[in-house]
Amino acid sequence: MRKILVFLVLTFLFLPFCGGKRVPNRIKVILLGFDGADWDFIEPLMEEGYLPHFRKLREEGAWARLRSMKPTLSAVIWTTIATGKRMEKHGIVDWLYVKKHGIKVPYNSSERREPAIWEILTEYNKTSAVINWFVTFPPDHIKGIMVSSAMRDYVFPRKKKKLLRQAVYPPRYFPLIEKCMVWNFQAALREMGIPDYRKMAREMGRDPSKLPIISSFRVFVLMEKFTENVGEVLWKKGDYDLFALYFRWPDVTTHFAGMFIKDRELVRRALEQVRTRHKLDPDLRRRLDREDAHVLLPVYRYLDRILGRYIERAEEKGAYLIVLSDHGFDLGPNGYNHELPDWMEPPLGILGIMGPGVKKGYELKDATVYDIAPTLLYLFNLPIGRDMDGKPLMGAFKFSRKLRYRRYYRRKFIKKHIKELDQDTLKELKSLGYI
Ligand SMILES: [Zn+2]
Repeated sequence: MRKILVFLVLTFLFLPFCGGKRVPNRIKVILLGFDGADWDFIEPLMEEGYLPHFRKLREEGAWARLRSMKPTLSAVIWTTIATGKRMEKHGIVDWLYVKKHGIKVPYNSSERREPAIWEILTEYNKTSAVINWFVTFPPDHIKGIMVSSAMRDYVFPRKKKKLLRQAVYPPRYFPLIEKCMVWNFQAALREMGIPDYRKMAREMGRDPSKLPIISSFRVFVLMEKFTENVGEVLWKKGDYDLFALYFRWPDVTTHFAGMFIKDRELVRRALEQVRTRHKLDPDLRRRLDREDAHVLLPVYRYLDRILGRYIERAEEKGAYLIVLSDHGFDLGPNGYNHELPDWMEPPLGILGIMGPGVKKGYELKDATVYDIAPTLLYLFNLPIGRDMDGKPLMGAFKFSRKLRYRRYYRRKFIKKHIKELDQDTLKELKSLGYI
């Protein structure tokens, strides 16, 4: 009798730890957005022994070549990722729209018709930190902290600081966020381990002020370092159910990296094939990607360090880490790009998932940018949006849950455009060559 009793007590004590199917009660998720990151550049660098944390992600997590959508515009796709919906539903269909009298206005969150994941979580009383996500100004009044995409415009010196107070919610966090901005460009480069691509262009006899993106390189560096700093400060500040941090770096740098490829003959041959035959010999493609990856090495090493930092944090908390990009890059008729002619498919992005009960080294097939929001809801054990266009990526996990569905609505939100902020956004889009 005593033996049976001891057995029963022990069984009840250890039951929750058996079976490997147990998932923590309070699910926390770290969501890292690396705009434009592409396995075709990461893989050759991993093969050469670089990027240990991307390697860890591939070996210990589930991963995918993430299918993207057309138009392959970052503002549109990041909104799709946050809502799980096609652009016709969520309403952000381009960089900007034309108001009456021909006035151009960049889309902001006023035009978003569907709730983002952080609004849904707020409805369920869950806390989020959302940092720098595309098209998030004016910031949603969520439970937690939102540093909207407009806040990075703080880098423009003429910016009226008072206006930007509205870029952070709740506004009382503004002074803390403001302190994350850095002004020393050279120090930022050193800390990030990034070369001065302007100087490299000059050494090649090019005028950096006439090259798109490179002419604004200083601004992009300061913005990126600012984003990293905000992540650090907010991570230490609180305990969140969702921590979403967006980096723009791989997109910005891959747009110009091609000009620094040393083997110009290789570039010329590849471009000629794409232009005349509308396709590229796979071997030539691999060689060119490797060359481009070498130019991008400092950028990917920087991201790898950030990834490593958040993998460690996720492991400490028993949380999930999801890292993804909105699209990758392909060689089009005018070089590497993600906005490509109609006869080309949207370039595949990256996806990696780590955490309790995730299958190790498992490649998910057919994962799309529509699946991220449903997968987050699945992890939080919340109903999936009935009209979401993706599905939870259940194949990534060793456990399975019963799916529930409901319709989510975006009920109250701030509708606001501030002319000065819109003008800066237009300026930035122009320097990227997007408009
Ligand atoms: Zn993008």
